[in-house]
Amino acid sequence: MLRNALNAMGLSSHPRINLDLAANAASDALLEVVSNPATGKAIAAVKLDDERSYYEAIGRSAAAFKRWREIPAPVRGQVVRAIGDEFRKHKQSIGAIITAEVGKITSEAVGEVQETIDIADFAVGLSRQLYGLTMPSERPGHAMREQWLPLGPIGVISAFNFPNAVWAWNAMLAAVCGDTVVWKPSLLAPLTAIATNTIAQRVASSWGHEDLFTLVIGRDEVVGERLIADTRLPLISATGSCRMGKRVGEVVAKRLGRSLLELGGNNAAIVHEDADLDLAARAILFAAVGTCGQRCTTTRRLIVHEKVVDALLSKLVKAYSSVRIGDPGAEGTLVGPLVNARAVEGFSAAIAAARTQGGTVLVGGEKDAPAGLSGYFVQPAIVRAPASNKLPIANEETFAPILYVFTFRDPEEAIEMQNSVAQGLSSAIFTRSAALAERFLSPAGTGSDCGLAYVNMGTSGAEIGGAFGGEKETGGGRESGSDSWKAYMRRQTCSINFSGKIELAQGIRFE
Ligand code: NAD
Repeated sequence: MLRNALNAMGLSSHPRINLDLAANAASDALLEVVSNPATGKAIAAVKLDDERSYYEAIGRSAAAFKRWREIPAPVRGQVVRAIGDEFRKHKQSIGAIITAEVGKITSEAVGEVQETIDIADFAVGLSRQLYGLTMPSERPGHAMREQWLPLGPIGVISAFNFPNAVWAWNAMLAAVCGDTVVWKPSLLAPLTAIATNTIAQRVASSWGHEDLFTLVIGRDEVVGERLIADTRLPLISATGSCRMGKRVGEVVAKRLGRSLLELGGNNAAIVHEDADLDLAARAILFAAVGTCGQRCTTTRRLIVHEKVVDALLSKLVKAYSSVRIGDPGAEGTLVGPLVNARAVEGFSAAIAAARTQGGTVLVGGEKDAPAGLSGYFVQPAIVRAPASNKLPIANEETFAPILYVFTFRDPEEAIEMQNSVAQGLSSAIFTRSAALAERFLSPAGTGSDCGLAYVNMGTSGAEIGGAFGGEKETGGGRESGSDSWKAYMRRQTCSINFSGKIELAQGIRFE
């Protein structure tokens, strides 16, 4: 499957990828072994960057920036349009690579590539809409306006779970803004990164633009730490855990650079007594077990009105029991494996902690590889909190399919519980009441404290048109749609005097 996908994209002899060396690569510091999470078996070895190749790569990107920024934005948009078209052609093949190296089921893997195509389309439109403002000057014979200028080569760090689309959220916008991109992907997903970057750069090169998209693959100590400290990169956009974001934020702030942080979530859905429980159960099922609970927006906490908790849980337990877990590349599979053995350990440890803290496992919670597979499979779990509603483990983001269930009586209490965690990424409310929904979205900011708030929908599965990101320990960054593009440009306020006289602002006289 992997070999076919690479062949289809003309990547079978890519200098970084070795499909035959996998088993012997473990001892080589400059090779990374990539494993298939469904089988636990090595599928490829990937060549890593060292200090020297890292510096050369950033140098090439910085040089390319000086040329690329001179290209008018709508013309940059044409290059991005061609890149989007190339991703359309290779959607299935890239999807197959995502499935092979991170275990995402086929429809979600292909859906991820669709997100890349969507953001490319969005960026093409944007390339004619990088609008600045004009504002009236207080001085006669003067004009003022704001313009947005290219920023520089941008460093992009991505997590394993969206190995294609997170790059695109950044790279497609950065490209129309006149920036070049240096991408450091997760070492759990380097094959997708190589395929993605090669496709994009191949198109850019065919338009005469070398080094718009540069890939550096390496260990955090060798490549990651250098990238975040590198003063040639004015912006570091980093997606991953809160732990990583705290380190990136600190290092980038120390050099007074800019960081755009997209970090962990601990997302909750509130279900009111008037909710459509069938609709809620369907939405919660995908949001809680989709991608095997490995989305930043996965629903991890359910806050249910005590009058409907039993009815909702009986629907969810039934649905969990019938979800097909198995080979992520096979038709009909809804849940694939976790990404590696460490993730399985994290899942089991969280289940054990929940039990110790008085939680009851209603369904799932076991390690369990389906017949014929030896990879990192678990049974998605629902854990009911004790009557005290106290379950400290639920305050942490365990990157696995565990749904903790709490109850409430008073709608204000539900919002308070929803907001009680350190992260602020995604949130949802299920209700037929417009008043309760509007209370949750209150313009006074007293409802959900998250960057994403959904009504009668699950917490995951964002569209690219809106700004994506979250508050508190989620990092405060926004990527993707709306006006997120502003993060990739620098703003200049221009004041022009055509009066022939010098006039000072604020009426100051200096004669
Ligand atoms: P991770 O934090 O382990 O790694 C993410 C990336 O950061 C990797 O590329 C890693 O190599 C890099 N990194 C780690 N330490 C670094 C350092 N010191 N310097 C430079 N780079 C460094 O996260 P993961 O396990 O790959 O992904 C799961 C996490 O990502 C979850 O917490 C999830 O919620 C979060 N996530 C957030 C979003 C979002 O948009 N908010 C999207 C996807 C994933």
